[in-house]
Amino acid sequence: MSEERSLNFIEEIVEEDLANGKHAGRVLTRFPPEPNGYLHIGHAKSICLNFGLAQKYNGKTNLRFDDTNPVKEDVEYVDSIKEDVKWLGFEWAQELYASDYFDKLYDFAVELIKKGLAYVDDSTAEEIAAQKGTPTEPGTGNEYRNRSVEENLQLFADMKAGKYADGEKVLRAKVDLASPNMHLRDPLMYRIKHAHHHRTGDKWCIYPMYDFAHGQSDAIEEITHSLCTLEFVPHRQLYEWFIEQLEIFPSKQYEFARLNLNYTVMSKRKLLQLVEEGHVDGWDDPRMPTISGLRRRGYTPASIREFCERIGVAKRENMIDVSLLEFCIREDLNKTAWRRMAVLDPVKLIIDNYPDGQTETFSGENNPEAEGGDGSREFPFSKELWIERDDFMEAPTKKYFRLGVGLMVRLKNAYIIKGESFTKDAEGNITEIHCSYLPESKSGNDTSGINVKGTIHWVSAQHAKTAEIRLYDRLFKVEDPSNEEGDFKDYINPDSLQIISTAYIEPDLANAVAGTPVQFMRKGYFTLDKNSTPDKLVFNRTVTLKDSWAKK
Ligand code: ATP
Ligand code: MG
Repeated sequence: MSEERSLNFIEEIVEEDLANGKHAGRVLTRFPPEPNGYLHIGHAKSICLNFGLAQKYNGKTNLRFDDTNPVKEDVEYVDSIKEDVKWLGFEWAQELYASDYFDKLYDFAVELIKKGLAYVDDSTAEEIAAQKGTPTEPGTGNEYRNRSVEENLQLFADMKAGKYADGEKVLRAKVDLASPNMHLRDPLMYRIKHAHHHRTGDKWCIYPMYDFAHGQSDAIEEITHSLCTLEFVPHRQLYEWFIEQLEIFPSKQYEFARLNLNYTVMSKRKLLQLVEEGHVDGWDDPRMPTISGLRRRGYTPASIREFCERIGVAKRENMIDVSLLEFCIREDLNKTAWRRMAVLDPVKLIIDNYPDGQTETFSGENNPEAEGGDGSREFPFSKELWIERDDFMEAPTKKYFRLGVGLMVRLKNAYIIKGESFTKDAEGNITEIHCSYLPESKSGNDTSGINVKGTIHWVSAQHAKTAEIRLYDRLFKVEDPSNEEGDFKDYINPDSLQIISTAYIEPDLANAVAGTPVQFMRKGYFTLDKNSTPDKLVFNRTVTLKDSWAKK
């Protein structure tokens, strides 16, 4: 991470607050997900920002589930969110739920009613919208706005007691129907919803709105810096209004630009559609921008944190190129992933002059890029090998430095070979390649005096293990599917998953462990899929070795 980068605007605010002795030098942030879906890379930005800020200024961060909407929320989501935050490497001070404050919030509402600052409105949603006016015309009040405090207290208690059906009444704050800020034109505080809540059960049939829950929850926890995305800028005045009227802890809201990433969608509603309609294999499908998808794909927490650090914190929205995320994971895996040989599109290579039945054992470094090395492993060599189909050319062009009849190439960590002949099937596909080897050209002890330009990878046919390989590409064909005409799902990339059912891999890869990255030499970084079994190994491609989209 870049240590000497300049402060972002939120850090500047915090440093100023610290310098002024505000909150006695205390910094307390919170990450407030709504448990209605899995976290995605956009949430990672918010997590890194909130937790990162606290770490930097000796503060703390609460994990607060913003569970004020009973219908869409689920325990499955709560569990996944906790797992993802931990996996990213962060520890929260307290695990809290907005629903834990329902009694307190109810009391706050009663207090505002008593102050004449809230009233029960019997209007329908349409009527309320029609009475709100427009940005240039003030709203019009209605008869409910003049209800007495006593009547409001009674009606609100009746709402809570379940006397009314959904939508029959709402509680509104009495702020200012002429405010240029539409959010201040008597915003809703409570609505009636006869629904079971995943934590409070059937205790409540009225639920607070976001604007009346969020700031109050911040104040209850004494959050010093409440960070949210830019779409909440117009809510800030209301955030402050409630806090001032209630005379509670003065938490402050600050807004930053959300992360937008190209070739994907990030709204939980859209991600849910992809899952429910079967376009992907669950929330953790390796093509999803979810944290769990990235994890299954082989991304590391460090690479995601580095990505968030690099994109920084801005006050204006922009679109980040997914190639930056790919760059971050390549950088990380280059230092940590063990190198192995795997042949994804195999063709048989027979070394005519190698003794039948002979086997040799060669060795190669696990990771030549690792500082101080990372040990080595052994692998067998024999007369028949698998090599990549595109490492042989029937009629080699001038600049082709791999195998062809009459061309020489080195087999990685083994011998130099020379192409001799090949056979084809009826369809014209090459079925076997024959070559000869130079016994004196053994890697590490090469006395042949011959220099070859190319090196290719291979596996011994009789020793190789087989594996299924899943090659992932971008889930969408266009940069911003949400902004295209028609449905975003019309822009799904039909080639986002290519399955290779039988690849041949080094025998040592039978010991691969889920979550441990490996580089298939010349092919990319891979990781074992969660559904892999010892009988059927499955590898996911995390990322190619180079940016293959840059050329397109
Ligand atoms: P969605 O609209 O997809 O449901 P959300 O913003 O409502 O997403 P929350 O669970 O409410 O999701 O978000 C929790 C926190 O993460 C909020 O503070 C929110 O501002 C932040 N967040 C969500 N998406 C992004 C993003 N793309 N970039 C940065 N922060 C984000
Ligand atoms: Mg939200």
